[in-house]
Amino acid sequence: MKMDDNRRMAELLFPHIDKTVRQYLTEIYPPRQLPEGAMVTRFAPSPTGFLHIGGVFTALVCERLAHQSGGVCFLRIEDTDKKREQQDGVSGIIRGLNAFGIRFDEGVMLDGEEKGAYGPYVQSRRAAIYQCFCKELVEKGLAYPCFCTEEELAGIRAQQEANKVLPGYHGEYARCRSLTVQQVEEKLAAGQPYVVRLRSPGKPGGRVKLRDAIRGEIEMDENIVDIVLLKRDGIPTYHFAHVVDDTLMGTTHVVRGDEWVSSAPIHLQLFYVLGLKPPRFAHVSPIMKEEGGSRRKLSKRKDPEASVEYFVREGYPADAVVEYLLTLLNSNFEDWRRQNKTADCREFPFSLKKMSQSGALFDLLKLDSVSAAVISRMTAEQVLEQALAWSGQYDKELYDALAADKEYARGIFAIDRGGAKPRKDIAKWSDVRQYAAYFYDGLDAGQKETVENVAPADRAQILRAYLAVMDVHDSKDTWFEKIRTVAGQTGFCPDVKQYKADPTGYKGHVGDVSTVLRTAVTGRKNTPDLYAIMALLGQDKCAARIKQALEAIENGK
Ligand code: GLU
Repeated sequence: MKMDDNRRMAELLFPHIDKTVRQYLTEIYPPRQLPEGAMVTRFAPSPTGFLHIGGVFTALVCERLAHQSGGVCFLRIEDTDKKREQQDGVSGIIRGLNAFGIRFDEGVMLDGEEKGAYGPYVQSRRAAIYQCFCKELVEKGLAYPCFCTEEELAGIRAQQEANKVLPGYHGEYARCRSLTVQQVEEKLAAGQPYVVRLRSPGKPGGRVKLRDAIRGEIEMDENIVDIVLLKRDGIPTYHFAHVVDDTLMGTTHVVRGDEWVSSAPIHLQLFYVLGLKPPRFAHVSPIMKEEGGSRRKLSKRKDPEASVEYFVREGYPADAVVEYLLTLLNSNFEDWRRQNKTADCREFPFSLKKMSQSGALFDLLKLDSVSAAVISRMTAEQVLEQALAWSGQYDKELYDALAADKEYARGIFAIDRGGAKPRKDIAKWSDVRQYAAYFYDGLDAGQKETVENVAPADRAQILRAYLAVMDVHDSKDTWFEKIRTVAGQTGFCPDVKQYKADPTGYKGHVGDVSTVLRTAVTGRKNTPDLYAIMALLGQDKCAARIKQALEAIENGK
């Protein structure tokens, strides 16, 4: 077709488009002025409302890359597929990401407003921009309208299957490639719906190389299909929108799920026909789960932990989830953490090159241990604050107990905290109820462990002897001295080392005596510092619990 014909075709299809690609590239969205090396990344979800933990993982990569390089990270809403859209889908995603401390410099904000000079950041508001780029391709003979109906396309597919050729609109199967301006004009006048397709310059057998920032060089077949650029409603496909948007918005690094690797040849071709420089690509492997010895993708349907809701509901502190995700992102994170025990995890120098190509394995037990370590580094005040915030929403009884006397609650969390080796009993806020249960009568589920290696009669003797001398106001030394004395009086060795050297003549040692007392006071054999626990509970409560335990032994329980 002649140059003029192409121009006429473009005018026929896009009479309302009066801007040029050049204007968009230079005047409307001038290149960003950023320091050398600054990365511009984007997180580009569809507004389905569901935030997969894999989405947080990818968003974290985007956020880290941009912010550690002094660049920009923006949020773009990809709503070109109206079928997938959910009401409130956008705010649900933003809230979910905010909960993990992932904030965007530009894009759609929680209040629905947009921030930044490269908007609109919602694709459905950018129709005229895509149409302008498409118009230019038609003008250059690199795109054309296709009027084929669903039935015709199905017919082509069937023919291709029979001929065993690559499915899709290409080569001799691309019937509308050869429509003349007159034919197009007639069809338009008859009101026939159409899509606009790329006139792919790809050749069968051609190869293309993608240099991926995570996977290195990937060689693939060149695209030969005349893919759809604009759908019947004038809204672009993902492919076309991605190329136009990431160009105009100045994205330097496209970080996205690896399900897009196979369409990268289409994208590279689109950049090429538009005369644009492609960004760097980083295709992130999905998060995996191990089950019954084999690995599979973490699934929205099968695994509750695929949804970020799960972490919020269980009460994992946001920092802990981020910290855990960092361990999955870069395997050297844990070494770094050992060397930088108290640093903010965002100081870790994250690197794309160190990301796993096979997919990181998600392990809830590991998350618990990372999270328990994060919580162990918090102050009692921080623990109280976060436990209150979580329980206010998810455990009313616990909230009421903690809020009734904050000083007391803070005291609970202060026990054994702050030392060189803090305990790691709490991995998530939903563990607090169990952790703090014996400090509150109302929360105690009646858990009562017994010290089997000490006979009931000896247990009773220990408790009676101790009750006679107990004073929770004693100094720690005096407190312990009294336990040693009780040990001596009841046939237990007051010194563990001495007992270990020669146990003859003893029923056990002072450790067994403490365990009997600990179990009487708290119902558990293993707790933080018993001295601190008793001081907090107070004389009356400790005495009452010891008496109760005595009664239980006497009643043969
Ligand atoms: N909207 C695309 C998706 O939901 C985003 C892919 C991309 O980041 O380019 O997968």
